[in-house]
Amino acid sequence: MRKNIVAGNWKMNNDLAQTQELIADLKKQISAAPAATVMIAPTYTNLYPAFEALKNTPVIVAAQNMHQNASGAFTGEISAAMLKSVGVETVILGHSERRAYFKESNELLAEKVNTALENDMTVIFCFGEELEDRKADKHFDLVESQLKESLYHLSKESWKNIILAYEPVWAIGTGETASPEQAQEMHAFIRKSITDAYGSEIAEEVSILYGGSVKPANAKEIFAKEDVDGGLIGGASLKAEDFLAIVNAF
Ligand code: PEP
Repeated sequence: MRKNIVAGNWKMNNDLAQTQELIADLKKQISAAPAATVMIAPTYTNLYPAFEALKNTPVIVAAQNMHQNASGAFTGEISAAMLKSVGVETVILGHSERRAYFKESNELLAEKVNTALENDMTVIFCFGEELEDRKADKHFDLVESQLKESLYHLSKESWKNIILAYEPVWAIGTGETASPEQAQEMHAFIRKSITDAYGSEIAEEVSILYGGSVKPANAKEIFAKEDVDGGLIGGASLKAEDFLAIVNAF
C-alpha cells in the first residue's frame, strides 16, 4: 500500500535558533501517531541539529538538494555521503526553484537520482509545468518528458525509493492552487504513465504528492482525491500549527 506523506520544504528560511524553535513547536504539537508520514527539509546547516532534535519522533529529516558526484572539487556542494553521515536519508531533487535558478536539467537530475539511489537514499522527485505550458495545453507532454528523462531509466526495484511530487510551477508560492480536480487529473495521468512504463504494481505503490500553495484550508479537499497521496508544502510548513493541520487533513 502506498503511503500518505506530508513533507515541509523550508527552503532558505530559518537560522539555527529559528530551526530549533520550529522543531520544538512541532514536537509539542504533533500526535504520537500522525495521519501521514511527516518529513521536514531544513537548510543544509541545520540538518544535523534537526536530525538530533527529532530522534525518537515520527518526523523524518530530508535535504533540499545534493550533488551528483561522490566527492571532490565542487566548491559549495554537498554529497550523498555527507548527508547520510548526519542521519539524512531522504533528499528532495528537481524542485522548480533548482530548475529555474540553478539551471538543473532533466539530464542532470537523472544523475542526481542515480547517485541518491546508489547511496540507498529516498528521493522526493519534483516536477511540474509552467503556466505557459498549461495555457498551450502542453502540460501532460511536459510532465511526462520530465519523468521519462529523469526517472524512466530506473529499474523496477529502484521505484520503492522514489516519491513523486507534482508541483505546477504557477501554483508554487503564488497563493494559486491547482483545483483538486486539476491535481487529480494530473496525478491519474502520472500513474497511468508509470503503469505504461513499469506496470500497475509499481504505479500503484508510488506515492504522488501535490505541491503548490497547500494550506490548512484546502488540504483536505486535495488529499481526498484518489491519486493524491499527500503534499509537499512550502510556505505553510514554516508554522507548526499550519503544517500539522495539513498533516491532520488526512
Ligand atoms: C514548494 O516550494 O514546494 C511549495 C509547494 O511551496 P508553497 O507551498 O509555498 O507553494
